[in-house]
Amino acid sequence: MSHHHVIVIGSGPAGLTAAIYTARANLAPLVIEGEPSSTSDQPGGQLMLTTEVENFPGFPEGIMGPELMMRMREQASRFGAEFLTEKVTRVDFSARPFQVWVRDQHYTADSIIVSTGAQSLMLGLEAEGRLLGHGLSTCATCDGFFFRGQEIAVVGGGDSAIEEATFLTKFATKVSLLVRRDALRASKVMQERAFNNDKIEVVWNTVVDDLVGTDKLEGAVVRNVQTGEVRTLPVTGLFVAIGHRPNTDLFKGVLDMEDNGYLITRPGSSYTNIDGVFACGDVQDHTYRQAITAAGSGCMAAIDCERWLESVAAH
Ligand code: NDP
Repeated sequence: MSHHHVIVIGSGPAGLTAAIYTARANLAPLVIEGEPSSTSDQPGGQLMLTTEVENFPGFPEGIMGPELMMRMREQASRFGAEFLTEKVTRVDFSARPFQVWVRDQHYTADSIIVSTGAQSLMLGLEAEGRLLGHGLSTCATCDGFFFRGQEIAVVGGGDSAIEEATFLTKFATKVSLLVRRDALRASKVMQERAFNNDKIEVVWNTVVDDLVGTDKLEGAVVRNVQTGEVRTLPVTGLFVAIGHRPNTDLFKGVLDMEDNGYLITRPGSSYTNIDGVFACGDVQDHTYRQAITAAGSGCMAAIDCERWLESVAAH
């Protein structure tokens, strides 16, 4: 067993920024960074699944997602953050010190920062692993710019899919919205937005069966579920927008969460319902989901945590 001032669970931009700040506050954080073999709990978070990041301030030439995360990790290490490349298997926050397990290894902490992130739901196709970041994307804000003048497609029929499709029309010449049934789930106002946009073609009753391309997406094999017709759409970009899932299974019944599983933080702060447990990044944000906003909220969590530890020590 080892005891720590603060344990950070998760190591995307939120967790690593929290680690940099708490390390510089002499709190020697232990970062339990996740499991390399996993696609949901991998160290570095979702940026490990992207290629070029062009919108993180300070990198005018852009930077590869994995390199950005490696640099954040180095920065946290430099100030004394310790890393454990494992996945947390159980927590007990019912009393202080808080308890965290990695299988049968037991850790205790005065405070906890939860930054376990979220994952984009995927289609479950074998080719997805190969082409993610190479034409296949889950984030229009991040990658739309790379598809100027090209024909692309978006999968999904919810508000996210329409928001992404609409945004992508700024760059692409045509956006096919692939909807698996004969109706959209999206709100009426968003539906209108899609129907009124000349560049968006809604393709009803259509699912993606396979992706074409070895190291770069060249097309999507789509099937009409009513007629059975199979054809290949010659798209260079495919955006999957079928929803996200926060990584909060570990905290069910422990931390307050919304019906969709996102952790609830007190507005304008990183405080959860348990004093001394803070949350930051995508695990508590389903609106912005950007590396920079996650990093910003990681900074908030570190400052909240540091001040809370001081106030507890003073009593
Ligand atoms: P939703 O769960 O609302 O929609 C998911 C969509 O993806 C549905 O159309 C669903 O189809 C489709 N889908 C699911 N699985 C598959 C699959 N395997 N293959 C093909 N299609 C699939 O998720 P969103 O991310 O769109 O939205 C999440 C929440 O965020 C909602 O509450 C939404 O309102 C909100 N939001 C609001 C925005 C805004 O107001 N500006 C912007 C973005 C999100 P089916 O309908 O058949 O189940």
